[in-house]
Amino acid sequence: MALLVRKYGGTSVGTPERIRAVARHVVAAHRQGHALVVVVSAMGHATDELLALAAEVTGSERCGERHPREMDMLLTAGERISMALLTMAVRDLGAEALSFTGSQAAIITDSTHTAARIAEVRADRVREELERGRIVIVAGFQGVSREREITTLGRGGSDTTAVALAAALNADLCEIFTDVDGVYSADPRRVPGAGVIPEMSYGEMIEMAGAGAQVMHPRAVEVGARFGVEIRVCSSFSEPAAGRSTAAGTLITRTPRRMEDVALTGIASMRDHAKLVLRRLPPGLHTPTVLLEQLAAAGVSVDMISEAHEPDGRIQLQLTVAERTLDEARRICTEVIRSLGMGEAEEVIEAYPGLSRIALVGSGMHGMPGVYARAFRALLDADVPVHAVSTSSVSITVLVPAEREDAGLQALHRAFALELQAPEDLRGAKPAASAVGSAS
Ligand code: ADP
Ligand code: ASP
Ligand code: MG
Repeated sequence: MALLVRKYGGTSVGTPERIRAVARHVVAAHRQGHALVVVVSAMGHATDELLALAAEVTGSERCGERHPREMDMLLTAGERISMALLTMAVRDLGAEALSFTGSQAAIITDSTHTAARIAEVRADRVREELERGRIVIVAGFQGVSREREITTLGRGGSDTTAVALAAALNADLCEIFTDVDGVYSADPRRVPGAGVIPEMSYGEMIEMAGAGAQVMHPRAVEVGARFGVEIRVCSSFSEPAAGRSTAAGTLITRTPRRMEDVALTGIASMRDHAKLVLRRLPPGLHTPTVLLEQLAAAGVSVDMISEAHEPDGRIQLQLTVAERTLDEARRICTEVIRSLGMGEAEEVIEAYPGLSRIALVGSGMHGMPGVYARAFRALLDADVPVHAVSTSSVSITVLVPAEREDAGLQALHRAFALELQAPEDLRGAKPAASAVGSAS
């Protein structure tokens, strides 16, 4: 029998009926003899509603910056509600269960309110209760600092709670139950042809999550990779195939079973980017360096940089930044340009807000001839303008107008359909990992 850590996301516990359905799911696994730790998110959009309430009371969307401690006190309430309700529903089905906040489960974090990182998971009380045969239900997304302050882990952080608990308890498997059937080659709500990826490596998932695939919190996968926790992402809505207690979904593991590495893992995107174009800067590295230093000093993170030379040797610099930092970035660039005595900053700087970042993620793309040509042809034919391009060893990224983001995702997914196809022969194949076997 296995020790399983299961996490149910907001939609999965979004209504009283859903909470009762999750309770039945959990109790069925417990009756099969598994030891269970269940991590829950806040119900539905509860976290967004609490954020909206705080904005209304304080009159500012950015109240978290002014009141970070109180924001954490507020947001942790969302997960406390679902943990208590789920525990009641489980107990009403006749199983022994109790709930713990992150602090009671001894999830110790640093003291960065609203974006804390887990330093250590002691989980002694969780272990004691498991030994008594009880189901332990833990509020996701939260912990306690060494100064005994309540902290949260950042949006989507319940995934990280689950994987960190699985690592600390040396669980056989961490199951992330969500509202889609697994990790797809692109967001299935926006790209109709996307397919479930049966198995993938931690590295591939970290890249996909970092590029915007919301289905897993990137830090959760990093913890999984560091401690070798096998993670299965699957739906809490679909019925499992005969003989299995959970749907197959996606297994995130160290060495996915495949003959060869795939060239392309998937496509992901993020909104809220912006571009600054600075024209006719003096030749040489001095001006770009001063600009970047000033932006860094103000905490503005620059995503892509490109430089082009005009015929007279002057430089054109393109920088992309998160849209929320655009005004600050523009102000800093204006100051630097004025201080260099380069004339009117308004004539030198152009700003383009409202952009989205689409990334093709995969490790073998750079050896594949014609990847750029195919990507650009697909975007051109779909009438999706490209504002900037950047590459790394595992991705190709383009910046497009936000209103063309879905069209760009769909065009690129179609263009690379063959590479993105999930190998059918792996679907429904008997899982190799013993923990998965024992969960079925
Ligand atoms: P939960 O509340 O269960 O944590 P999330 O909303 O955080 O769920 O994540 C699930 C959502 O992630 C899906 O509904 C889907 O729209 C979105 N998503 C984005 N990219 C992907 C992808 N590549 N595969 C699966 N889902 C994705
Ligand atoms: N409730 C939190 C959020 O909405 C954490 C989570 O769901 O993972 O971001
Ligand atoms: Mg999530």
